[in-house]
Amino acid sequence: MPIPELPFRQIHLDFHTSEQIQGVGSKFDPDEFADTLVKAKVNSITCFARCHHGWLYFDSKKFPERKHPALERDLLQPQIEACHRRGIRAPIYLTVQWDYYSANRHPDWVCLDRNGCRVGTPPFAPGFYQQLCLNTPYREFLKELTGEVLDTFPADGLFFDIVWPVACVCRYCREKMSATGLEPGDAGVPERFGIQTVNEFKAEMTRFIRERNTDCTIFYNAGHIGPRHRSIKHAYTHFELESLPGGEWGYIHFPVSIRYARSLGIECVGMTGKFHTSWGDFHSFKNLQALRYECLRMLTHGAKCMVGDQLHPDGRIDQHVYSLIGQVFEEIQRKEPWCFGARPVTEIGVLTPEEFTGGEHGALPEAIRGATRILEQAGHQFDVLDSAADFNKYRLVILPDRIPVSPDLARKLKQYVEDGGSLLASFASGMDQQQNEFTTDLFGVTLIDEGPRDDQGNLVRGRNFERHDYCEYLLPTAAVGGGLPATEHAMYRKGMAISAAPGTETLALLIGSWFDRTYRHFCSHRQTPSKGSVSQPGITQNGRCIYFSNPIFSQYDDNAPRWCKVLVLNAIERLLPHPLVKHDGPSTLQVTVTNQPDHDRWVVHLLHFVPERRSQELDVIEDVIPLFNLNLFVRTPRVVREAIIVPGGVSLPLRHEDPYLVCQVPRIDGHAMLSLAFA
Ligand SMILES: [Zn+2]
Repeated sequence: MPIPELPFRQIHLDFHTSEQIQGVGSKFDPDEFADTLVKAKVNSITCFARCHHGWLYFDSKKFPERKHPALERDLLQPQIEACHRRGIRAPIYLTVQWDYYSANRHPDWVCLDRNGCRVGTPPFAPGFYQQLCLNTPYREFLKELTGEVLDTFPADGLFFDIVWPVACVCRYCREKMSATGLEPGDAGVPERFGIQTVNEFKAEMTRFIRERNTDCTIFYNAGHIGPRHRSIKHAYTHFELESLPGGEWGYIHFPVSIRYARSLGIECVGMTGKFHTSWGDFHSFKNLQALRYECLRMLTHGAKCMVGDQLHPDGRIDQHVYSLIGQVFEEIQRKEPWCFGARPVTEIGVLTPEEFTGGEHGALPEAIRGATRILEQAGHQFDVLDSAADFNKYRLVILPDRIPVSPDLARKLKQYVEDGGSLLASFASGMDQQQNEFTTDLFGVTLIDEGPRDDQGNLVRGRNFERHDYCEYLLPTAAVGGGLPATEHAMYRKGMAISAAPGTETLALLIGSWFDRTYRHFCSHRQTPSKGSVSQPGITQNGRCIYFSNPIFSQYDDNAPRWCKVLVLNAIERLLPHPLVKHDGPSTLQVTVTNQPDHDRWVVHLLHFVPERRSQELDVIEDVIPLFNLNLFVRTPRVVREAIIVPGGVSLPLRHEDPYLVCQVPRIDGHAMLSLAFA
């Protein structure tokens, strides 16, 4: 049964509540609860069946011993009923791998690491983060409990939290590995088996649910959606992208992960929090403009919005929190008619190294972060991809820094270029996994040698050294040097030592320093200056394929040298001379284009908020800095009948500057939408 489009204004209501707090739920009033949600324009709220402390918040017949001992009244049942009476959806939250109650009573259910230690919070530290293993009898308990929840409640959806791979070597896992012919002691085996375990659990649980409920939504949360979700996406009805900028996700995680997740063809919901920092931050408030930015940013990427909150143990919903959320959701409600069924319009695909190196919410590959920053700051329209994606949807595919190219991927890229596509690659992209040689001739370059090693004997290429010990200097030709001084520019991270094949054009030269910085020779506080002699090509072009020998995207993620961005953008311009969108606004403006096929229109989102590092720990947004008289250039596929600022309906004068439609947006107060209705 197809799942209807998800609501736009959702709440995720945490309720991890210690048994040492008294009067749990004593001030809960179902009508006050649900009326507050109505007032705040909430149309879906995920409510708690079971929390990380392991307690249940309903009257379980199967597991009465797990009911919260200080719970004065049931919460889940009246929450769901009160919400349903008001037309509010109420999916149900169930914890999976964090469960303090089970971890303490069933120590053999806790994951074991290679040293024989239990994974997670040690005995004398506060926290319920002991990691439970899904190959133990705990799995049967989870199914029984889920079965009871489905039998007891009209479940709109199930949200399973903390479902991620663990390289567990507990007795159950070792036995299961051995039984399937795997050697648990071999390097990498428990890691791969951990992924297999978690995927198998998700598939089994989804089948189990579907035998009891054919249309509830199903989601398994791991704090991040990435390439490892592709093979198991059928177990999900949608993706919820947990990404709280005040937590370890920061502001960069959401754009990277949404641009990937949406490419898998599943509906996505962005999830931030009302907290100043992150989950469990009681009595704290996110700044209004930050919450606006985070929710509106979800809309601009074609996602629905969700805000995380935590209910006070007494069960009383916080009016101040919902006054804050309501201000943002009221704006979302006014804007969502231009967001229903919206699909992003993109022309660049960026492969993420995460497929090869792994990545988690606080540890995305630096190259994909750098690439996302550069492209967003320039207003380019792009998706983040893995190597299984359909490249033919894109005019340009970017392989940032560390995309190894297998023989299969080499064939796919060659076909893509023969069919008219363009490629931009850098550093080790285009080489084999071991970085011994280029496995494609598309870039017309060859590896000369592996370059220098540090005093530990490790290769230095591609690495970040605090004092730029192996810096080299890029001298761009006019082909890619527009907007930069015609001189050498520091490349702090050393690149690949390459030579260019005959016929490959050199767009920039690399100049060596006098010497690398070691104890034998060094100069001043940082890198040694240029010696002035050319060492190799730095940027090359072979047909429609451009290659940077330096890890230019990781470099941008390190410390954002503007020349790195300009060089990349100039190279893109050679391959993609008329991008979908151009504007004369600042680099802090984010522009996205979505298509609403049911309305035969495009909607251009203009988003302008500026996170500032006002503290050691996190970026803060407090103000809106409005923009005025922005000139916007959009390359539309068909004639546009009318350009209107929506909602509000101000029609803008249009002119054509081939191949662009041009208009001037008078004012942007954080966010503006421009509807382009086709003739
Ligand atoms: Zn195990």
